[in-house]
Amino acid sequence: MNLEGKRVLVVGLGSTGEALCNFLLHHRAQVKVSEKKNPEEMGQKISFWERKGVTVEAGKHDQKSFMEADLIVPSPGVPWLPELEAARVNGVKIISEIELAYKFLKGKIVGITGSNGKSTTASLTQKILEEAGLKTYLAGNIGTPLISFVDNSQDDHIYVTEISSFQLEHIEEFRVSVSVLLNISPDHLDWHPSFADYYEAKKKLIISQRENDKAILNRDDPLVWALKEEGKFQVYAFSRNGKVSPGCFLDGDWIVLSNKKEEKLLRTSAIPLFGIHNQENVMASALVGHILGIKPARIIEPIKSFRGLAHRLEKVTSIRGIDFYDDSKATNVDATSKSIQSFERNIILILGGRDKGGDFKKLRKPIKENVKTIILLGEAKEKIRAALMGIVPMETVSSIKEAVSLGYSRARPQEVVLLAPACTSFDMFQNFEERGQVFKREVLSLEKELGKQRT
Ligand code: ADP
Repeated sequence: MNLEGKRVLVVGLGSTGEALCNFLLHHRAQVKVSEKKNPEEMGQKISFWERKGVTVEAGKHDQKSFMEADLIVPSPGVPWLPELEAARVNGVKIISEIELAYKFLKGKIVGITGSNGKSTTASLTQKILEEAGLKTYLAGNIGTPLISFVDNSQDDHIYVTEISSFQLEHIEEFRVSVSVLLNISPDHLDWHPSFADYYEAKKKLIISQRENDKAILNRDDPLVWALKEEGKFQVYAFSRNGKVSPGCFLDGDWIVLSNKKEEKLLRTSAIPLFGIHNQENVMASALVGHILGIKPARIIEPIKSFRGLAHRLEKVTSIRGIDFYDDSKATNVDATSKSIQSFERNIILILGGRDKGGDFKKLRKPIKENVKTIILLGEAKEKIRAALMGIVPMETVSSIKEAVSLGYSRARPQEVVLLAPACTSFDMFQNFEERGQVFKREVLSLEKELGKQRT
């Protein structure tokens, strides 16, 4: 693809949009950005990019800009705008950032997708490959957009890429050497028109693969496993429930690698990451290492020293025997459900935020088993209350600070106060990181306060 002189419209000027602008300018395209945020909200960004030669349209999407383009690249998360549809009908090519990157990138791509666990698995996988001496980079949502690597890419590079359903929307040739499909549960139903549409998007990662490509699939997730016949790729499975081969499975408390012969990798107790779902992430990462030729001994060490990512079931502190956990990244029902099931102790659960179209009734079973009290917060609190009525006491608060102090007062020693909201943070915060940071800050200030009282 030759971009020189082409009129390219980038929709959205977040971090991917900016990475796209850099790439496109370097390839001498005529770059225009259409961003719905108002100029006042964008601050210096507009003049910065205008100085570099980008035309910036802010506060609106002008249909004319879409019609005039030779190519449109929407940022991940940009909805299917009427302007995009009209441009498509008019014959304008629309591709995602990863598709554009793919057309130019040298090296291999390991693509990791799923409803939950992408960032954790991508980070651990990259660590395993790096510590084995491979030239590897973490790309996508958690790392740097794939497009930013293109111009320095080499044939021996491996790009471990976290891929969301949004990025899979506008792909045509994009193909990965190794795919990982962790799980599929309803998510982003505020964006995708239906679950079927979301499923179709996720599926695209593996159906484009060919004979020599490998797909690592979760044997225990029926929606994932159903895709094993959908392409010509070689299937590797992982399972917590039974033997699989080639693949990785849990045998008692051992993680076992199986490919012609069986080899015990490590005990689950040697995994520093907490929670049953992380055993799945570990198995998937180990399989990528195995497929890329890394010996088991070199796969095990990075797993043992991986401390996990912030705001994913992260222990904040223990106050008078009560443990506080930050799982602010649990923004959907499935992640929250896994989070609850990771404890064999009573939980005071903080739920709520902005609803993503989740079915909160699915939380009834895990709540019945492990939760003592629910603390509700944010926009979705009434919807959650209605879905969970009649199982355990529910109380409402209006801030994280109140949630922390109420959680502490309801908990007994050995119990857990868990922030795992099953909703996004956008009703009260910029993002899940900010929500998690506020939670941690409030927990630590409560600890300090109580420490003072003791002295
Ligand atoms: P993603 O990048 O897909 O959002 P993260 O690794 O950031 O995934 O984790 C998101 C949330 O999902 C966290 O609450 C985490 O504890 C939970 N989680 C992580 N791995 C899994 C998994 N394999 N299955 C279900 N939930 C998971």
